[in-house]
Amino acid sequence: MVDQLIAGLTQFTNDVLPTKTERFAELATGQSPHTLVIACADSRVDPSLLLQAEPGELFVVRNAGNIVPALDADGSSEDGTAASIEYAVAVLGVPHIVVLGHSGCGAMAGLADPASLEPLPSVARWVAKSGADPSGVDLDDLIERNVLAQLAHLATYPAVNAALDNEAISLHGWVYDIGSGAVRAHNGEAFTNILG
Ligand SMILES: [Zn+2]
Repeated sequence: MVDQLIAGLTQFTNDVLPTKTERFAELATGQSPHTLVIACADSRVDPSLLLQAEPGELFVVRNAGNIVPALDADGSSEDGTAASIEYAVAVLGVPHIVVLGHSGCGAMAGLADPASLEPLPSVARWVAKSGADPSGVDLDDLIERNVLAQLAHLATYPAVNAALDNEAISLHGWVYDIGSGAVRAHNGEAFTNILG
């Protein structure tokens, strides 16, 4: 297992790094990502691969269920996801945020079946922060509903709210289908395939 990691690192060092020396020298002095991606921690979801983005382009926050926790009454949160979002928006000034849900999301399956999370108390507490109502919908619909709930949470973040007021940021709700590679975006009314 560790051999596999070392092999990957060796390949990066020998084959990839030499082709991007200028890029990494530039990145060593700072970052200016164009998009904050809030994605699931699921190993099958790889935002940089999906969007063919280079280091420095995407500020990526990942957690179980691509959840944006609601803030406390004072507009802050103990949560690391909230801190990362605040930094990306208030300090880095990202002009886009994508909440990236995905098919077959285990976190959303857990939200829909609380009994399955009894041995996983931390997961249970975390997915409850989704705010999406799992009743009356199948998993695919819940995954979409969850993305919309996180967009609503994002809009309550002071930094995001201020950027929205200044028309300095756009929020996007996407769902990635792992089997087909298709990505659907919410257009204000429904989720439709981005590439048609
Ligand atoms: Zn997931």
